[in-house]
Amino acid sequence: MLTKIWRVDPTAGNLEENAGIQEAATYIRDGELIAFPTETVYGLGANALSDNAVKKIYEAKGRPSDNPLIVHISDFQQAERVARSIPDAAEKLMKAFWPGPLTVIVPAADAVAKTVTAGLKTVGLRMPKHPVARALISAAGVPIAAPSANLSGKPSPTEASHVYEDMNGRIAGILDGGPAGVGVESTVVDTTQDLVTILRPGGVTREQLEAVLGKVASDPALKDKKAQPKAPGMKYRHYSPKAPVELVTGGLQELKQAVTRAKEKGLTVGVLTTTENANAFQNLADVISIAGTRADLATVAQGLFHALRRFDHYDLDIIFSETFPAEGIGEAIMNRLNKAAGTSRND
Ligand code: AMP
Ligand code: MG
Repeated sequence: MLTKIWRVDPTAGNLEENAGIQEAATYIRDGELIAFPTETVYGLGANALSDNAVKKIYEAKGRPSDNPLIVHISDFQQAERVARSIPDAAEKLMKAFWPGPLTVIVPAADAVAKTVTAGLKTVGLRMPKHPVARALISAAGVPIAAPSANLSGKPSPTEASHVYEDMNGRIAGILDGGPAGVGVESTVVDTTQDLVTILRPGGVTREQLEAVLGKVASDPALKDKKAQPKAPGMKYRHYSPKAPVELVTGGLQELKQAVTRAKEKGLTVGVLTTTENANAFQNLADVISIAGTRADLATVAQGLFHALRRFDHYDLDIIFSETFPAEGIGEAIMNRLNKAAGTSRND
């Protein structure tokens, strides 16, 4: 299959009438797959009301069929088409954080394709903020089911070139709207229980959720590696470069020691680091990948997946990574790094 690429300036006006977005929307209505930018990462979209279209997402990504997809909408009325009911807590969260990087799990309506929910009675709903994503959804006129547009297991794409690496020849087209903003995926919260529960940390922080709801719970599987995660996708290995990743706790000295020991053994070594610490590895590591600055963890979230993907352009034996405080956006960063390192459950 020929994969078309349309460049779209997200700051231009009247995006719904953009020729590339129009053509991409036609592909969605025809049951084909389109990758598009969101403010978190690039998504791989299909018509959420068509089982045949949604099946193609699982095939293109090599995604396990028990891992449900998030449905993306562009206006509040569409939520009523996709959800059977909207719990009060979900409504509060939608008002506070939509459009934005928050997915609410709500009871699913019958119209939603069964392949979207992977047989569950609930569905994940999100209204993205990115203007290209919103224009595509409204031009298509249907809700769009979309996971991240990477091959299953790989780091999520934050640029159109990452999507191209993984999906060229597998999908109808890519809308290139430049780099995604937040860099890590949406926060997924279950609103069908008494207490709203975080299933996956992401772009909206725990602190922001608690400011709206008071106390929120966490899926025990986020801490306890033996517990069964409530978001089926959280049990899979994910975000992994080809070489094994080891997280180094402590500070710069510990990271330097780890790299030095591996070099002494004759290994080819990559290091995932920050602008503050990169110089220390100049004559030590074989490949240095900088995620962002420790002074502002939002930049580390933005640069994390690109930094991880870069390692695959080299033949490395091992990658050592800095670690970050698991607070605010740091919670999502450490969740992704733990998965990349295979230090979470079932890996
Ligand atoms: P992504 O591939 O980044 O879009 O991941 C979406 C995440 O949301 C995965 O971990 C899914 O398992 C999870 N998810 C989607 N729908 C549901 C649902 N109805 N219930 C629980 N988790 C869900
Ligand atoms: Mg994903």
